[in-house]
Amino acid sequence: MIRLNQVQLPLDHNEDALQDVVLQKLSISAEQLVDIHVFKRGYDARKKNLIWLIYTLDVTLTNVDEVALLASLVDDHNIRVSPDTDYKYVACAPEGLTERPLVIGMGPCGLFVGLILAQMGFKPIILERGKSVHERAKDTFRFWRTSELNTESNVQFGEGGAGTFSDGKLYSQVKDPGFKGLKVKQEFVAAGAPAEIIYVSKPHIGTFKLVTMVEKMRSEIIRLGGEVRFETRVDEINISDRQVTGVTLRNGEVLHSTHVIAAIGHSARDTFQMLHDKGVYMQAQSFSIGFRIEHKQDMIDKDRFGSNAGHPMLGAADYKLVHHCKSGRSVYSFCMCPGGVVVAATSEEHAVVTNGMSQYSRSERNANSAIVVGIDPSDFDNDPLQGIALQRKLERNAYVMGGSNYDAPAQMVGDFLAAGVGKPFENVEPSYKPNVKMTDLSDALPQFAIDAIREAIPAFGKKIRGFDSKDAMLTGVETRTSSPVQIKRGADYQSLNTKGLYPAGEGAGYAGGILSAGIDGISIAEAVALDMLKQIANR
Ligand code: FAD
Repeated sequence: MIRLNQVQLPLDHNEDALQDVVLQKLSISAEQLVDIHVFKRGYDARKKNLIWLIYTLDVTLTNVDEVALLASLVDDHNIRVSPDTDYKYVACAPEGLTERPLVIGMGPCGLFVGLILAQMGFKPIILERGKSVHERAKDTFRFWRTSELNTESNVQFGEGGAGTFSDGKLYSQVKDPGFKGLKVKQEFVAAGAPAEIIYVSKPHIGTFKLVTMVEKMRSEIIRLGGEVRFETRVDEINISDRQVTGVTLRNGEVLHSTHVIAAIGHSARDTFQMLHDKGVYMQAQSFSIGFRIEHKQDMIDKDRFGSNAGHPMLGAADYKLVHHCKSGRSVYSFCMCPGGVVVAATSEEHAVVTNGMSQYSRSERNANSAIVVGIDPSDFDNDPLQGIALQRKLERNAYVMGGSNYDAPAQMVGDFLAAGVGKPFENVEPSYKPNVKMTDLSDALPQFAIDAIREAIPAFGKKIRGFDSKDAMLTGVETRTSSPVQIKRGADYQSLNTKGLYPAGEGAGYAGGILSAGIDGISIAEAVALDMLKQIANR
């Protein structure tokens, strides 16, 4: 197969245009072209009234000497042999293997650790503190409707992990030379995701599709001999001579294994504390704090796409913004959800945390994103657990500011920039549920963060017209952009000082999003399988 990169076509090109461009670029006849496979489709919207679709194509040819053809096109850097992107399993479990790896957490990372191990024949046991995704969805929507929080079954905890009620964006900036991201997306498609997630440059799935996909993936793990236990919190990791021996569950049951994967996400504060108390090596990590901002989606669409706004090939527009402040701090947009809603994302009592989600259609009236300020471990004395303490303090403060009933404090951008009182909202209706309390957000974050956001929003208004409009809506607080700790691991993916413990995914500091958590899960599954085979060989 031959790969053509950077194939540029107009937004409204006809069906034959792809074939025409391939024939012309390769100087071949229609009879020699067997198939065109779209590997990737993105767009270039730098000129909003002249938007181009940009393709990466893999073409299958017949009666063509591909070596000679590529040699004749050697000066064209956009034409090369297609790389082998097929996923290859690194191991296969021997017959009669009795030890079973234990996977703590069934977010995207734990899900992929479990799935890949099961596919290789290692029958993992997945231990998830929350409920099955169906039951968890009921608890989460009940919280948004009635303010009744279940601290073990919510946006953060339960089957599917933190990204289940989300926009389901599936892109990441991690280096992925082994095409593990493609394997993640292929498994999602096999579980019911739209096929386009494989090739569009910024794929997303949306909340409801994710729920059913997670159920199908669980069934596949079980069909392959794996086991999944819900409402099963791991309260202790058992360690002897700095080698993991197993785990103790909340009900006192002890499970033995020398391979334990901690894919616990960034919100399992009690589990971080337990690992810290057990002497597992961890260090503080930077994270960010800020607010969610909401605008009308059609305002963002018009700014980004001009007269092409609403074109079905483009969908609802997104954005990505960064501002470097005079103070040296950076403010940036994070987890932008086009046509979505702001959600209540706490897992702890008496705390308010915001995040964003959308459905596949992205058809809600508002666009939202987090506008956050980076903070460094030196802001909290480099103590691994002090970052968590800071997050908790801000979340509890937001709870009180919102009226001590899980409503979130909110303010219009105009009032926030003028350091004024919170007036009733105008054009942009806040989407956060249960509700918002219009107030003064000046006290919701440390002063350096408030100053940085006040400097950044007008600067963002110069990049997206209307971004700093007075009726844009801010809702707080956004504190869980990433994990405040990193549980350090070595080249063998095991904890630096605890053999057999595999810190994994976002909570351990090795992923930042659904796709990268899935990719990390695959790497961990491979490392665990190879180590188990090594142990057997050494017996
Ligand atoms: P998690 O998904 O956090 O999973 C960890 C799991 O471990 C949880 O299910 C938890 O219950 C379980 N657990 C923790 N402790 C224990 C214990 N002691 N015993 C047993 N189980 C335990 N990312 C994107 O890429 N795109 C998006 O559009 C997107 N939107 C988001 C929207 C929201 C509302 C949220 C909250 C997050 C969003 N994210 C998004 C981020 C994404 O969800 C995370 O990066 C990802 O889920 C991390 O995966 P993980 O498996 O490492 O951890």
